[in-house]
Amino acid sequence: MKCEDFKKYMADLCDKQTDPAITEACRQHMKECAACRAYYEDFMHTVNLLTPKYAPSFGKTQPAVSISPLQTTAKPKKHPSHKWIQIAAAVAIFMAGLGTGLSNFFSTQAEAVPSIPLIFDQSIKSSRSAASFSMSVYARTTPNENFAYINPKSGFMRISLESLRQNQKTFWRLEKEGGRTIVSDDGKQYMWTTGGLAVCGDEKCNFAEGFSSLLRPETLLEQQKAALSGNPQAHAEMTETDSTITIVTHTDVYGNAVSASLLEKEEKSYRCTTENVFSKRDGLLQQVQIWWERDGQKTLVLKSEHIVYNLPLVPSVLVQRPDTTQVTWLSANTPSVKDPAHLRKLTNETAQEAAQRILKALTDGKPQMAGEALYYYTAQLPTLTENMKGCKVSAVSQAKEKKDYKGVIVFYKLTTPDGNTENRHIALRRDNPQGIWMVDGGL
Ligand SMILES: [Zn+2]
Repeated sequence: MKCEDFKKYMADLCDKQTDPAITEACRQHMKECAACRAYYEDFMHTVNLLTPKYAPSFGKTQPAVSISPLQTTAKPKKHPSHKWIQIAAAVAIFMAGLGTGLSNFFSTQAEAVPSIPLIFDQSIKSSRSAASFSMSVYARTTPNENFAYINPKSGFMRISLESLRQNQKTFWRLEKEGGRTIVSDDGKQYMWTTGGLAVCGDEKCNFAEGFSSLLRPETLLEQQKAALSGNPQAHAEMTETDSTITIVTHTDVYGNAVSASLLEKEEKSYRCTTENVFSKRDGLLQQVQIWWERDGQKTLVLKSEHIVYNLPLVPSVLVQRPDTTQVTWLSANTPSVKDPAHLRKLTNETAQEAAQRILKALTDGKPQMAGEALYYYTAQLPTLTENMKGCKVSAVSQAKEKKDYKGVIVFYKLTTPDGNTENRHIALRRDNPQGIWMVDGGL
């Protein structure tokens, strides 16, 4: 296979029925050719760079996980005074644990050995009663990919989470070292990347996506508990030392974070092994490790350092973010098209037509002609226009679906003024309130 063919076949790989022989030939070529391997990696990272992968916001749906550690997702919202009773109860349990010495935090009730669900319950309560916590994890992901993204094939990177509850508000900061960062002040969330993207919105935006549940100790435990009770194939084991109890759970992957590869068509899900180490002194989760397993291959995807609770955090430091001289803050709620005729035209477009129109606006040097579609590129528009002005776009493909992605990919050929051609692609999605095509990546 030639490199030129490989790039051409990338478009075919998005189609549902690809010739297995072509897939295999691409896979083989990628093993030998570093340039095409890099092209493939780049392609797989094109999408989801700009917006949350699951676009849960826009006021339509609730976030997948509860933001406040005090609220459980199962129960309706209670009057604040009930919340304080819950906290008081949790604190009482916490104090009881402290008072009765090393091994007695986990109440044994009538049983000789406390049951695994009971240990989970008690640790969840302890975790909720902690005023603050700090944890660092190493996870297989990339610096600037959104927080739904974990990939067993990626290298490890360090991610830190700090969370503080003060005056009935929760402040938190989730930071990929040298990459994407999110802060929340319990009213607004802000997310930015080193690439210059900066968006803000209300808590419904849930920028942290699947990761917030992986990084919040009690949510992590709640999800395992649910996964254990819902599936007959799920199981757990417990071991203990003088100071710790370790529970290892074997479940399907919980949360919503699985990244699909184009070259692997099978929809098989991962099995998940989670090792939780609890302190007997206070019942709190001390450390966690997660492995994903598929086709007999077991990979460690996440490993925490020691989790620290009740440390003195300062709200203003937690929510520190770049100011408007450094980044342009975009609202996560996209602007709406007011003119009914224009809106009708935009909503009737196919992705292919939209791509053609947007690319033409750029090569004509008139990006404002596709302003709505290029909303997420607002900050980069001057550079982008400069780079594409005078180029020619041809061979614009039909929209291709990409597994595990809400939008579509359109392929095209770009010819620069000096005659060089390049195979390129653009990611478009329209899961916004008005249903118009917006560029999500690739430019
Ligand atoms: Zn090649």
